[in-house]
Amino acid sequence: MFSSMKQKKIVTILGATGSVGQNTVDVICKNPESFEVYAVTANENVELLAATAIKVGAKLAVIANQNLENDLIKLLSDSDVKTRSGSEAINECAAHNVDIVMCAIVGFAGLRPLIYAIENGNNVAVANKEPLVAAGEFITNLAKENGVKILPVDSEHNAIFQVFEDNNKGQVYKLILTASGGPFLNWNKKEIDNATTDQALKHPNWSMGAKISIDSATMMNKALEIIEAAYLFDLPSEQIDVVIHRQSIIHSMVSYKDGSMLAQLGQSDMRTPIASALSWPDRLDTGGGILNVYELSTLTFEKPDIVKFPALKYAYKCLELGQGACITLNASNEVAVAAFLEKIISFGDIIKCNMYAIDNLYPKLAYYELKTIEDVENLDQTVHLAIKEYIVTKLTPKG
Ligand code: NAD
Ligand code: MG
Repeated sequence: MFSSMKQKKIVTILGATGSVGQNTVDVICKNPESFEVYAVTANENVELLAATAIKVGAKLAVIANQNLENDLIKLLSDSDVKTRSGSEAINECAAHNVDIVMCAIVGFAGLRPLIYAIENGNNVAVANKEPLVAAGEFITNLAKENGVKILPVDSEHNAIFQVFEDNNKGQVYKLILTASGGPFLNWNKKEIDNATTDQALKHPNWSMGAKISIDSATMMNKALEIIEAAYLFDLPSEQIDVVIHRQSIIHSMVSYKDGSMLAQLGQSDMRTPIASALSWPDRLDTGGGILNVYELSTLTFEKPDIVKFPALKYAYKCLELGQGACITLNASNEVAVAAFLEKIISFGDIIKCNMYAIDNLYPKLAYYELKTIEDVENLDQTVHLAIKEYIVTKLTPKG
């Protein structure tokens, strides 16, 4: 008799309370025969963290904010789930040996846990793009040294991963990242500059966390993704293109020298790339539904407008300038998006901060040596302070 018994994969979910984190929980709960969860982590949402830990049967729940550990202990007092708190506990949790760590923290804050996971030999499913932007070469080298597989979760990079043959890299003509264009694709520059937080948070095709939603509206998300792709697939910027594809059905394409173009299609549902990364090279039922080609309307492709959305231009410029510029762009953007969400600056000011960061600030910081991860963190912090100062002194705070 054939046995269908497969070993369950043990998973840790970093950023389990977020949009990608909760979609990961969904995929895991739909496939209980395939996965077991070791740990779940979150920043502050202690109620959802506790509920998630119970839902997936985690052994450990870690909350970054140490002031919330007592709340977490109380919420989990009737369960066997162990609790910890603080960023060091998150790092240790990432390092604990499992089959795969889902990296779904938002922002640069996910860098250390990602490094800890890789250094300790854990395969990583990476949604958290900002560490790849800020320290892509460092991370990919570390993964190679430790024999660790990086499985991209960002839908475009997961799409490319599915149709990209690493050993055929020399035959790739171009990677083509698709972009929905975000909520302001057809707005004029003045309207975009004055967009409100509510307008910017409303993505037409995807439901996502606040930061990536704002990044999609400025198209900084696609800029970060150009850099992410360059590091993940180790290709020069000239071989990475962006096309506006409003329907978000084709998640990206690889164009080969022989004229073949391979694409990955699917619903706009993060459960597909999450499942693909978690179960690679197998495939799972995600519950998200299968694409019905008869229901597809026309698929359209347009050139991005880099005058309206200069972020894209800056991604190429940063790749040309090197890792320090990528760190600078990412850090500036994190500060600017947070300030916009707190209604301190206008939507148009986000891109002003990022342009200032690369055109004016980076030339003064280019001497920074980037040999260690501490060097990356120091430059990130320096840019944070400089952009906060720029906001206070140069941008008119809104009423
Ligand atoms: P989110 O804001 O919904 O969730 C972020 C998670 O990170 C939460 O669990 C939060 O508690 C945790 N977190 C935040 N700050 C932290 C800190 N300082 N220390 C520890 N934990 C912290 O974000 P999201 O939309 O799920 O995105 C997560 C990452 O995945 C981002 O880097 C984003 O760019 C990327 N991504 C998201 C999507 C999507 O559909 N949401 C798609 C592609 C890529
Ligand atoms: Mg994406």
